[in-house]
Amino acid sequence: MKIVNNIKDLKSCIKLWKDSNCSIGLVPTMGYLHEGHKSLIDRACRENDKVVVSVFVNPTQFGANEDLDKYPRDIKRDSKLCEESGASLIFAPSPDEMYSKNFSTYINVENLTDGLCGSRRPGHFRGVCTVVSKLFNLITPNKAYFGEKDAQQLAVIKHMVEDLNFDVTIVGCPIIREYNGLAKSSRNTYLSKEEKKAALILNCSLGKAKKLLKSGLKDSNDLKSVITNSLRDEPLAKIDYVEIVDSISLKPVKKIENNVLIAIAVFIGKTRLIDNFTWNI
Ligand code: AMP
Repeated sequence: MKIVNNIKDLKSCIKLWKDSNCSIGLVPTMGYLHEGHKSLIDRACRENDKVVVSVFVNPTQFGANEDLDKYPRDIKRDSKLCEESGASLIFAPSPDEMYSKNFSTYINVENLTDGLCGSRRPGHFRGVCTVVSKLFNLITPNKAYFGEKDAQQLAVIKHMVEDLNFDVTIVGCPIIREYNGLAKSSRNTYLSKEEKKAALILNCSLGKAKKLLKSGLKDSNDLKSVITNSLRDEPLAKIDYVEIVDSISLKPVKKIENNVLIAIAVFIGKTRLIDNFTWNI
């Protein structure tokens, strides 16, 4: 497996593969890889001749007061995981390699980014869409793999691909969790032992919501209250948002009559965690 840090080497590798008619899968990540990422890489390896994993902590998707500087990084560990999974290449550029001094072109997907994480993290999806577009242009993958853990991101990327006619199939992959239900995340590494225990409240509150939906509850305010109250039971948890939105438009719904996304963002101490599930009618 190759590790490439610059665009020139990446492009010559991609050209060789394209010349020999290889299909290419791309897994974009910010590194500090875990089993959630691995599930995407494994699927990409099953479905493509060559797999590129990008490892890039993308500065343009972080807000001024967010964790860009302290975001965990461990390229050695990441390489081992990628190699063992059968990936062909890691693309790990520096910020300067991706953003020249005069960089001034950004991609904005409107409407879908108005709510949920989009409203809490202004500019976040602009940064995500810009870097993902650059990766699509550089790597020209046949398929690109994204986790349902970041459900809004998946919806936004799918929309961008349709709007801008990128020739790539977007594949959504299910959320991978710890044995106790906590969604795997690179940011879990910030949590103390006590906070890790407290973080179980995210999946637990969603579990309560799922039960009520199964029993026929249709009113989304009632459902929100159940999730909110359950989260408030945990003293270390501070709610950022609890939302019930249409799974396609991501607009809030009052009555649950079509497929909906139930999405939450919660601070556990200083660490912001997200989780969700989709309820299909
Ligand atoms: P990140 O490195 O956090 O930007 O994530 C890179 C990709 O891995 C994104 O498409 C995420 O949605 C996906 N991902 C992260 N955590 C998980 C998880 N627990 N299960 C499935 N996919 C995940």
